[in-house]
Amino acid sequence: MTFGAVDSGADLGSDPARSIDELERRLEVLLESVDMQSVEDLDDADEFPTELIAALDRLGVQRCYVPTQFGGLLDDYSNAGRIVRALSRVDVTLAVAHGKTFLGAVSAWVAGDERQRERLAQLICEGKQISWGLTERARGSDLLSGEVRADTAEMQVDSSRTGDEPDTAGFRLYGEKWLINNATRGHAVCVLARTRDGGTARGYSLFLVEKSELDTASFDTLPKEPTHGIRGADISGISFDGAFVPARTLVGPEGHGLEIVLKALQLTRTMCCYLSLGASDHALAMTARFARARVLYGRSLGDLPAARTVLVESFGGHLLAEALTVVASRSLHALPGEQSALAAASKYLVPSTVEKSLLDLRRLMGARSLVPGLGSDGTLYKVERDHRIVSLFDGNTVVNLNTIVSQFSVLLWKNTARTTQDEIDFRICTTIAEPLPALDLARLSLVPRRGLGLLANLESSVTALGCLLDRQHDGQAYALRCAEVLVRTVETLSQQTRLLDRDPVEVPTAAFVAAEQLSACIAGAAAIQIYLNNPPTGPLWSDALWLQLALHTALDRIGVRSSVPIDSIDAGYSVLLDQLDHRSHPTIFDATTSASVKQERVNT
Ligand SMILES: Cc1cc2nc3c(=O)[nH]c(=O)nc-3n(C[C@H](O)[C@H](O)[C@H](O)COP(=O)(O)OP(=O)(O)OC[C@H]3O[C@@H](n4cnc5c(N)ncnc54)[C@H](O)[C@@H]3O)c2cc1C
Repeated sequence: MTFGAVDSGADLGSDPARSIDELERRLEVLLESVDMQSVEDLDDADEFPTELIAALDRLGVQRCYVPTQFGGLLDDYSNAGRIVRALSRVDVTLAVAHGKTFLGAVSAWVAGDERQRERLAQLICEGKQISWGLTERARGSDLLSGEVRADTAEMQVDSSRTGDEPDTAGFRLYGEKWLINNATRGHAVCVLARTRDGGTARGYSLFLVEKSELDTASFDTLPKEPTHGIRGADISGISFDGAFVPARTLVGPEGHGLEIVLKALQLTRTMCCYLSLGASDHALAMTARFARARVLYGRSLGDLPAARTVLVESFGGHLLAEALTVVASRSLHALPGEQSALAAASKYLVPSTVEKSLLDLRRLMGARSLVPGLGSDGTLYKVERDHRIVSLFDGNTVVNLNTIVSQFSVLLWKNTARTTQDEIDFRICTTIAEPLPALDLARLSLVPRRGLGLLANLESSVTALGCLLDRQHDGQAYALRCAEVLVRTVETLSQQTRLLDRDPVEVPTAAFVAAEQLSACIAGAAAIQIYLNNPPTGPLWSDALWLQLALHTALDRIGVRSSVPIDSIDAGYSVLLDQLDHRSHPTIFDATTSASVKQERVNT
């Protein structure tokens, strides 16, 4: 039986999952029961996915957004990422609408006091949605120009009537936050507001505002904005007109709002990559099945070399994105001091790579990508359209590149003194079987003072790769040549970027191009490290196949055209289909494909 978009038999009568494993298992069953036609009907009607969100809440998915110490399931960051990826694989709107609570909550996990965190954990576990109010109508990326303000205030309360200790000291909020996800449906919103004149770095503070605690005459929510993607999401806003918030709603010290936001963004930008991976899972599966089934000129579309190449190159982009995302998630635990650079590089590289792949896949599928209702997988155009939002919010592409530009000196110029412990921690980031240290958000930093492990270890990792791979083998030699290009590119960037104008506002175009190329090198370095430090888990590891495909994309993103050997394209195509046939999503870490396929790391 189905109701709305979800099979009612899939989760009704169940208690919330008690562990992440149980949650993943039950979520898979729930999501498999989703009727994609209903999802598209809701989208057509600009309707919020209310029933499905409620089903996720009953299952306890929101507990992934709450650290275990406060009663949630957030322990290993990549576990929460996998859940968001699974939601996005079904519907980006669903993932954005549900996952927004994590974004709204992160500032409190970074800097809130114990009482705030416990309260927030309770709200989230109950299924209350939390928003994040940064953007204003007249300004987006430039957080230092925000005009929503919080004036210190005293509220007159007649305490003799209630007997409670009155919460009289606080602030009054004025102004409007706009384009805020779940501002209307959400229970609380974490608001960045100016607490000092002048728009300086210490001029802003964060407030965790529960709407139900506000005087109803002092605030209003704004109408939902119709959007071209994620049409069902509640993208609205909230306006304040002297809304009194007690001092206990202040998150972190007064004046520290911007710093807290910049640290929180390191977590949320990393999480956004899982939205992209989910969309890419969905699109690759749809297109690969189409390419196999569609018959043209007496053969399947996937048998035409040009079509197969487009599909497999998109698969390569996906694998590169996955490698970088996995390292970035683990780095949050093991090397949080480097996350400002790694999150910015990931938030630029992953969504933009997936955006390009989705466009290529849509062109490959052709007319049927635009016609809804043809299959049970949904419409490719909708996936591509919805995914465009990922590179826009939480710091758009330019903002992330700008962060990297501002860090050129530590990433490229200085010979930073990395410690032995840094190298041990770096190894943990790239070795999946290594247990992770607990998340310690107090160690987040606005600058990676001792550089980035992926760049510092790039040259030695390529040397190690050279010892492992066989230059006589076409595919292995290709992977090695790509890896060597990465090393040379970083050397060149290190020279070129020193010559650039260093104006922090009028950043030259060449600096943005250099940041794009550096991000691609960082992604390639992540792929090499994953390849070197982990045992093969499937046929994609034979002859470094996945590394060939991933590094092809890394070079492409640098602007270097190269051709993957044709045998590797063919092998990539058959592994992709094999993964899908075994109900896996496209992944480097595939434990489900048939045992009959070779799984050695390198065939000699
Ligand atoms: C569907 C949706 C949901 C959203 N949800 C939220 C939410 O929940 N909370 C929230 O606070 N906000 C949210 N936003 C707003 C979003 O985060 C902002 O739109 C984003 O931060 C960028 O701001 P902007 O698009 O207004 O661009 P602006 O800052 O106005 O910039 C416009 C353009 O200028 C360029 N640019 C920017 N900086 C530079 C630079 N340094 N150098 C060169 N060029 C530059 C970029 O190309 C940019 O696209 C949402 C937006 C959408 C569309």
